[in-house]
Amino acid sequence: MKEYDIIIIGAGPAGISASIYAVSRGKSTLVIEKDRIGGLIGKVSTVTHYSAIMEEETGGTFAARLEAQARGAGVEFLFAEVTAVSLEGECKEVTAGGQTYKARRLILANGTTPRKLGIPGEEKLFKKGVGGNATKDGAAFTGKHIYVVGGADGAVKEALYLARFADKLTIIHFEEKLGTIPEFLRKVEAADNIEVLLNTRLTAVSGEDRVESLTLTDIRTGEVRTVNDSGCGIFIYAGSTPNTGLYAGLSLKDGYIAVNDKMETSIPGVYAAGDICVKQVRQAATAVADGAVAAINAAM
Ligand SMILES: Cc1cc2nc3c(=O)[nH]c(=O)nc-3n(C[C@H](O)[C@H](O)[C@H](O)COP(=O)(O)OP(=O)(O)OC[C@H]3O[C@@H](n4cnc5c(N)ncnc54)[C@H](O)[C@@H]3O)c2cc1C
Repeated sequence: MKEYDIIIIGAGPAGISASIYAVSRGKSTLVIEKDRIGGLIGKVSTVTHYSAIMEEETGGTFAARLEAQARGAGVEFLFAEVTAVSLEGECKEVTAGGQTYKARRLILANGTTPRKLGIPGEEKLFKKGVGGNATKDGAAFTGKHIYVVGGADGAVKEALYLARFADKLTIIHFEEKLGTIPEFLRKVEAADNIEVLLNTRLTAVSGEDRVESLTLTDIRTGEVRTVNDSGCGIFIYAGSTPNTGLYAGLSLKDGYIAVNDKMETSIPGVYAAGDICVKQVRQAATAVADGAVAAINAAM
């Protein structure tokens, strides 16, 4: 069984930041990632507001620089899904890809998973017009009608990006106004092909190999209407849920991991960083800061 000083689960901004600080302190460090380096932000169309980003920074360019920096620092990666952990005791164990790895310290940085709406037709039409990734799939809807479900910053930012492909783009949001920052609101208002449908939920989608129609429900009046829109694209940004299913022994709040100001969890030797933690602001900047604090303390 291979043994490390520190094992980090997740290679998003929090995990990568933690890994760079951990190796800098002479600690043998393994990062285990089930998908690609970069995490959630690696998949977004544009990265905004993080300090020192490049002009036109995309999720892809940001993730590539995270990876280059970590590899340059000598971080070791294992690409496999963590399926079990043993958190108690001096020596922690992590199982991934059928192997078990040991470490004296663990940093849990495996983030959140975008939430689905759970509406009829969503599963059947997933990747056939519903769901998908704006960067990869947006161009497939060039000249078509695109719908974006969600009204927070991430949703509106992806809507602004997708509007460059769409003939028309509709943001569907259940609240009475968009919950986004003035910068994005101004851009929405200035765009001539974006409309905003408030107080409305997408409650079903229909079609066989592509979307044929959407069912919309006005949450104030209860009015339900069907919109026929063959071949349209629907991108969903309806929040996310923490990936804490493996961590039953930890103190959680609403599913997120409770940490102190050293990013220590309720179990000695186990740290957490990034979006998976109880916190007010979930951004790359706060994830990177958490990763630094967790690794510096884990390395002591
Ligand atoms: C649409 C959208 C746009 C955004 N835009 C911005 C922006 O412009 N600027 C900004 O600062 N923030 C932005 N954010 C927020 C930002 O993406 C997150 O705050 C940040 O990615 C959190 O980093 P993290 O490392 O904590 O988690 P994540 O980025 O979620 O990384 C977690 C990693 O853990 C891996 N993982 C999960 N489970 C396992 C497992 N069992 N085994 C192994 N690996 C696992 C995942 O594959 C993932 O790579 C945006 C978010 C969204 C949804």
